[in-house]
Amino acid sequence: MCRHLGYLGPPAPVGDLLTRGTHSLRAQAWAPRDMRGGGTINADGFGVAWWVPTVVQAPDGNGAHPPADRDAPAASRYRNAAPIWTDPAVDEVLPQLRSAAVLGAVRSATVGMPVERSACAPFTHGRWAFSHNGVVQDWRRVLTAVATGFGSPSLLEAEARTDSAALWVILRGLLEPAGVSYAPEALVRHSDPAIALRRLAGAVLERAPRARLNLLLGDGETLWATTAYHSLSVLVTDEIAVVASEPYDDDPRWQPVADRQLVTARPGHLTVASLHSDESERART
Ligand code: GLN
Repeated sequence: MCRHLGYLGPPAPVGDLLTRGTHSLRAQAWAPRDMRGGGTINADGFGVAWWVPTVVQAPDGNGAHPPADRDAPAASRYRNAAPIWTDPAVDEVLPQLRSAAVLGAVRSATVGMPVERSACAPFTHGRWAFSHNGVVQDWRRVLTAVATGFGSPSLLEAEARTDSAALWVILRGLLEPAGVSYAPEALVRHSDPAIALRRLAGAVLERAPRARLNLLLGDGETLWATTAYHSLSVLVTDEIAVVASEPYDDDPRWQPVADRQLVTARPGHLTVASLHSDESERART
């Protein structure tokens, strides 16, 4: 049981998203309410990502701009393997950073997995930030098989020897396949994050049916999340979109997400669909 949270909305102090509300992510670290499947507190570190504009490259000699992502914001992050409530940076430094997108997590290490900074979510790459709340039983064998099936990058690239870090290597490969053609239709087909999450969850659950897979992914403009076993709630208005393991306050607009769902959220837009097929998709705004 870890707890995670994604925010999109007006630029807000990054630290504020960790301490906001009577049941903030920091409070959820030592007094979570909806623990399922063991664990009492989330004391094995924390992390938070925010998004910064990337440098726009100068036009080349012919006046042409480099292609693709040149204006996409990139995820930046801060992590610490100590309990979140012991780190003064949360109150003294992180509030000085402002971002229109934040993704944070507090960790309760699965038994047998290392407690270290590199194992703390969020995992980041370019514009992506990722967190996993859950566990993949027998993860070395299961995720090696999943990675082989997808032709993923080597799991030796995982930042830490944890199921979550290995899941991120595989998901990154699905989001940004090597050698992908940048023809617009190929880009759309290959990098739809909802499809990537559905494929990943499906392949893992096929080999490890009891896997707990609450995944959270953000690119600074949209949040995607899955539920497989653990709790999740969403708060979406025209101004903000928050996806969180537990509501951070008692705002009546929080909606619980059922199990085995795939959530896509941004301000003014919420889609909750079956994790296993897109048939039951229903859009709510
Ligand atoms: N298995 C992951 C880890 O150890 C996530 C743990 C959790 O959700 N509690 O980091």
